[in-house]
Amino acid sequence: MNRFANPAGHRAPHKPALLLAVLDLAEAGRLPRNEIEYGTELLERFVIYFRVVSRQGDRFTPYNPFGRLAREGFWHLEPNPGRGPVVASPKFTSHADVHRNVAFASLDAGLFDLIQRPATREALRRTIIERYFPDHARALGDVGRREHAANAYERVLEERVAGVARDAPAPELQARDAAFSRVVRSAYDHHCAACGLRMIADDTGHSLVEAAHLIPRPAGGDDPRNGIALCRNHHWAMDEFLIAPGPDMRWRVADFIDDRVDPACFLLPLRDRTVAGLRDKRYSPFAESLRWRVRQLRHPATPT
Ligand SMILES: [Zn+2]
Repeated sequence: MNRFANPAGHRAPHKPALLLAVLDLAEAGRLPRNEIEYGTELLERFVIYFRVVSRQGDRFTPYNPFGRLAREGFWHLEPNPGRGPVVASPKFTSHADVHRNVAFASLDAGLFDLIQRPATREALRRTIIERYFPDHARALGDVGRREHAANAYERVLEERVAGVARDAPAPELQARDAAFSRVVRSAYDHHCAACGLRMIADDTGHSLVEAAHLIPRPAGGDDPRNGIALCRNHHWAMDEFLIAPGPDMRWRVADFIDDRVDPACFLLPLRDRTVAGLRDKRYSPFAESLRWRVRQLRHPATPT
């Protein structure tokens, strides 16, 4: 019997799709501890698989499987303080509902150990696809290969930040972009480093910030410390050399932009504001990358 089937017999894709996303988190090195957070890193991966396997009428409701997987015995929910009774029989109805009640999910220790190892993780992935998504095996295989390349490169980039030198060939551009974007946006906890905006799309789980290169490729490379997370407006403004983060981690605004141009210009309040959102100093931008950005300002405000 298919334990993930709903009463109508349609195999609800949510639980196995969420498990595929968890396998990808492990592959990317994002599960150093047995603590699966209900966050953008998980949801953006879930939606990749969900889009392939969902049918008309399946809704993007990852909060459902995140709670209901607890019925399967291998998935455990760690309640937030005082939320134990709610988490004991979870029926979450929104993303906020999960955040309110659950600190993280964990797997049985043996299963967690299995998904840390590439060979057994891959065997689990194949088992899930064969059992629950046999009609989508080819499409999921394509997605899996693409995600595998991005996850592997994400590990390489994280290791660079950690000071581990490893020679690894760069994958194709799409995987490089995906890995760079994930590491940089996560380092800023999905905040725009300029205005502080943090917005997660409720219907896809995607964060609406982008990862920007400070020194453009190819010269700048993909090291996350050559990157910064920005909303689309501030990404545009930086690419147009109208704003730049300086080596003192304060924003510069091109000096021809002042209240003679437009007192309401959205870039003006940024002048001298501290770079926002960076949650781990190890990801602080390279001084050379910041100096390069300031030098490119159309009219540098102050020489550094
Ligand atoms: Zn912004």
